[in-house]
This record gives sequence, structure tokens and C-alpha cells, in this order.
Amino acid sequence: MAFESDSLVDDARIEAARGEDASLDDVARTLSARLRGASPQAILAEALTAFGGRVALVSSFGAESAVLLHMTAQIDPATPVLFLDTGQLFGQTLDYRKALAKRLGLRDVRDLRPAYADLATRDPKADLWRSDTETCCQIRKVAPLNLALGEFDAWITGRKRFQSQTRAHLPIVEAAQGKLKFNPLAAWGREALDAYAAAHDLPAHPLTAFGYPSVGCWPCTKPVENGEDLRSGRWAGSEKTECGIHTSQSGGAAQDVGGGI
Ligand code: SF4
Repeated sequence: MAFESDSLVDDARIEAARGEDASLDDVARTLSARLRGASPQAILAEALTAFGGRVALVSSFGAESAVLLHMTAQIDPATPVLFLDTGQLFGQTLDYRKALAKRLGLRDVRDLRPAYADLATRDPKADLWRSDTETCCQIRKVAPLNLALGEFDAWITGRKRFQSQTRAHLPIVEAAQGKLKFNPLAAWGREALDAYAAAHDLPAHPLTAFGYPSVGCWPCTKPVENGEDLRSGRWAGSEKTECGIHTSQSGGAAQDVGGGI
């Protein structure tokens, strides 16, 4: 791809508007290389500035979410934050989402819920997770997120390479379905996250104290033993490792096959 301007992100916006993933793949790879070694705050600022009004942070308000939410609030507390309220979350997560958003001063947290028609026709007893986790994640996570992302050219995730083997090669920027995805914390490890949270006195998700290093829906999340992958408590006992919001969005450049926000 030939870049006509000095701003790769400007080019990305144009390609995103055209919905051309192949060109966006090039933009993502070049941006990843350019941002290698940059701090998470610098990556975040680049995304928020360049895509102002057309970029959203997607957050689970889970075990490690406070760090990126805090960084975002420091740069622009009006940033749209998309929160997937699947209807199957722990009560502690819903309480944490409210308290943390208030504490950080985030002004535009959007609760995304499954479509009533999908629930009525495909999961009327709210027990689809017992028999078909793929479809359950599709109607409770993937479909609501895809709908909400329609108004944005780019989004930001909190995924990190250290979280699991499936995320070990997560790029800083990737392309998917006509949008760019920024992963500002991709290179950060446990120590850096803990140090940042301590320095800013960020409250932990209440379930981390009970052995949950990754928190999703209550039927599909279990505590984790020491030494296990941090995400091994998600869909424990099954082959499933990701909910599908990233796999369904993946374009050619995406090296990451990971999902859960
Ligand atoms: S994580 Fe479990 S309960 Fe939540 S949407 Fe996916 S299958 Fe359903």
C-alpha cells in the first residue's frame, strides 16, 4: 500500500471507511512496527487522538481492566467504553463496573445487552451455555458488540500477551473487518500491571481475591490454580478458549486468535 500522507492513522481511517481489510492489514503492520516500544499511554493517546469520536474502548470490567480504564480516563474521560452485559455476569462484576466508572470519571460507558428476540427464540431459559457455548457467546457477546461497533472505525482492547498461549503473539495493532484494533497493553506483564494499579490505588475486581485471575460469565468461569494459564478457568473442561468477539472479527493480519476482552 502506498501511503499518501505522513499519518498512517489517517490512511487507516480512509481504508476503514472503504472497508478494505487487505489495505488495513498493511496499515496495522506498519503501525505495530512504529509503535513497538512505545508506552501503553502513548499507544492509547495515538489511537484516541487520531480516531477521536470514532474509536471505542471495549472493556469487560474484569480482573485486569482497571489499568487501561484509568489510562483512558486520564487522556479523555469521554471516550466511549463498551461493556458487554451478557445477562450472565457475576453480580460482583456489575457492581465493580458501576463503582469503577464513577471513581475514574468515565462519562460514556455503554452497557451492551443481547437482543431480546435472540434471547426469546434461542435461549429462553437462559441455559444455552449448558449445551451450546458458541451460540450462547454469539447472541450474548458477538452480536451486540458487532452492532455497537458499527459507528466506530477503530477499537481498543485490554488483551496482553502473557495472559495465555493463544495471545503470546498479539500485535500492538491489528486489522479486522474494516477496523483497526489497538492493544496498548500487549507487551505489559503482571509486574507492570500490578505496579501501575498500586501507584494509582486502583481497586481490584472483588473476585480476584477468590482465585479468579480472569472473570467472565458466571457459568463459564472457574478459579485457577497456581501455575495455570490465567485464562484456564474460562470454559474450563472444554476446548473453547475464547468467546469469539475477536475471532469473528479477525482479518488476515491478525496474529492473535484470542478473544475475551
Ligand atoms: S461465556 Fe458462557 S454464559 Fe457467557 S455468553 Fe459465552 S457461553 Fe454464554
